[in-house]
Amino acid sequence: MTNIAIVGAAGRMGLRLIALSRQHEELRVVAATERPGHSAIGQDAGEVAGIGRIGIAIFADLVDVPQVVIDFTAPAATRAMIKICREKGIAMVIGTTGLQQADHNLIDEAAADIAILQAPNMSMGVNLLFKVAAQMAKVLGDDYDIEITELHHRFKKDAPSGTAMGIAEAILKSTGKGRDALVQSRHGDDCPRKRGEIGMQSLRLGDEVGRHTVYFGALGERLEVTHTATTRDTFAHGALKAADWLAGRKPGRYTMADVLGL
Ligand code: NAD
Repeated sequence: MTNIAIVGAAGRMGLRLIALSRQHEELRVVAATERPGHSAIGQDAGEVAGIGRIGIAIFADLVDVPQVVIDFTAPAATRAMIKICREKGIAMVIGTTGLQQADHNLIDEAAADIAILQAPNMSMGVNLLFKVAAQMAKVLGDDYDIEITELHHRFKKDAPSGTAMGIAEAILKSTGKGRDALVQSRHGDDCPRKRGEIGMQSLRLGDEVGRHTVYFGALGERLEVTHTATTRDTFAHGALKAADWLAGRKPGRYTMADVLGL
């Protein structure tokens, strides 16, 4: 049995993590947190998530020490939680996106002391897409223009999505390119495509859960690979699986590819 805490328990992902944790018999929720002042503070996490009372109240702090924290919040909150987990020796699954290089450095430093897994997307399909897109880019070369598009719901804060950046990073790594090859949201009257660049576009529409397409276009043909998430539960199940996998691991930085055996 792995004891877990859900940080951001009343958020879109937090609610599903609480609700779906019941389907993972190997896991037990022992703590749930929300930002100070949130209306869910003091309420039962199960009742807030719509599954009935589970006997775990939502607090602003981590009152009970779990083996693993699952954090889908915002970069500032995640930074604070990394410090707490490191001090208390708690393993951590980070789903928060919009992280900057300084945040990744913080995760790398924490990995000296705790097992920590950060992934911009917890789904099997997307993690496979990271691999496949990297291979395709390497094989096809610069004769094929690469464009990445992502669609998400209107409430999403960061752009481009962490997943789109994950696809881009995987392609940069496999092709030996630097971040200067990325061109985001082209506009203007003199911005023709340069050979070898990777275009990225973000669309925000209604309640879209998440759709990513990588295009490879040459003169005469085009290849497109699309991943569509139809429910957030895909990410929640992935994160819960990752938490169980991470419990008891030695300190280090892990990825979903490790969990999924990709
Ligand atoms: P959301 O805004 O609905 O939920 C975030 C929750 O975190 C809110 O309830 C907020 O009050 C809470 N929070 C903020 N500061 C906090 C603090 N200090 N302590 C505790 N809770 C705090 O957002 P969401 O749609 O649930 O997404 C959360 C994050 O997860 C985003 O960065 C999103 O991009 C990312 N995400 C990642 C994946 C993935 O597979 N990795 C999937 C979906 C969403």
